[in-house]
Amino acid sequence: MMFETDETREYRHHIARWVDERLKPQAEALDRTGEFAFELFREIGELGYLGTMYPQEAGGSGLDNPYTCFTILCEELARASVGFAAGVCMQGSTATHTLHAWGDAEIKKNYFLPALRGEKIGAFAITEPNAGSDAASLKTKATKTEGGWLLNGGKVFTSNGTVADFITVVATTDPALKAKGLELFLVDTTTTGFSVGRKLEKFSVNCSDTAELVFDNVFVPDNHRLNNGSGSSFLNAYQSLTVDRIFTAALAVGVGRAAYDASLQYIQDRQQFGQAVGKFQAVQFRQVDMLAKLETARLYTYHAAQLADQSKDITREAALAKIIAAENCHEVCHMAMQNYGGWGLMNEFPIQRFLRDSYFPMVGGGTGDIMRLIVARQIGL
Ligand SMILES: Cc1cc2nc3c(=O)[nH]c(=O)nc-3n(C[C@H](O)[C@H](O)[C@H](O)COP(=O)(O)OP(=O)(O)OC[C@H]3O[C@@H](n4cnc5c(N)ncnc54)[C@H](O)[C@@H]3O)c2cc1C
Repeated sequence: MMFETDETREYRHHIARWVDERLKPQAEALDRTGEFAFELFREIGELGYLGTMYPQEAGGSGLDNPYTCFTILCEELARASVGFAAGVCMQGSTATHTLHAWGDAEIKKNYFLPALRGEKIGAFAITEPNAGSDAASLKTKATKTEGGWLLNGGKVFTSNGTVADFITVVATTDPALKAKGLELFLVDTTTTGFSVGRKLEKFSVNCSDTAELVFDNVFVPDNHRLNNGSGSSFLNAYQSLTVDRIFTAALAVGVGRAAYDASLQYIQDRQQFGQAVGKFQAVQFRQVDMLAKLETARLYTYHAAQLADQSKDITREAALAKIIAAENCHEVCHMAMQNYGGWGLMNEFPIQRFLRDSYFPMVGGGTGDIMRLIVARQIGL
């Protein structure tokens, strides 16, 4: 494949083996029970994968191509379980990025490093019941008090939310300032006033934990306001949210690949009219169309990751990667269902799970419409 180096090849080889030996055998059960896979999560931390994005001096892996390697991690995990991969993606990037960038020594010691080791679980909460795509209209309020801030409000759809030890919460210090008034606050979930409203039940990415959160006069010390000292910390954190779109695209590529591989095997095994259904041209064409969509998704996603490794502005490419990969791979899963006939609908085959899970990359980190808005601005519209 075009974007490989010795480092990325070796990285993929090792994580692929772990996925086959450890995650794949448990993926169905995790989907059925919807339980957070604590043991596997800790294992991923012990093996060092949660430090993929960070330099060695910060406690990370010190890789030459961190974005490409993290993209590989997301893809490989997602070909077994998008739900598990989504939790790891959150921990290894969104939930830890601003701690690494702006956290002081206390934050690094108590949250960032334990998170990289898989000992503490992190989350990132911006979405609210009435503020999704329009994040700047969020209502969770941060009010200055002696030695820190008091948070009041509520969040929804927070990944890792019911199991998190710490959560980076986006709150407004002044609603009139809209996006410019948004700041990031690191909340320890043992703090008085914090509670989990409920764990949300889903039809997709079941073993990814999704929560509703309540903040009732939650005290956040001054040093837990994550800010680099110049302007709104949310706007400054935007670059990390941009990069996350590539990782969400990689989740799509992973599940698309799983559906493609399963379908290719199935149509060679399944006999009808005295021959394998893969001998019928209609089925062959569908399988080839799946490959075309998957390869396009894969190539563009790794193109965007490679640009990120070269420190290029990836605003346009990351949004395009998410559009191309999420939508192509959702179609790949849909076509795999067709190739399976009635058995595709049965829970004993994973195809229905792949199709259900393929909805997540189209929404997580921003919908396809919002990605199109971002690209439209980038091309001057
Ligand atoms: C499983 C899961 C996990 C998630 N994890 C997290 C998390 O960890 N942390 C977090 O903060 N959030 C998380 N989210 C929230 C996610 O980012 C939002 O769901 C997403 O941004 C969309 O917001 P919404 O659901 O409120 O949809 P809405 O914003 O209400 O959108 C509804 C529809 O209107 C369209 N629309 C809205 N505005 C526009 C516009 N300006 N132009 C064109 N179309 C528009 C949308 O595309 C969509 O089709 C998660 C969501 C899911 C499903």
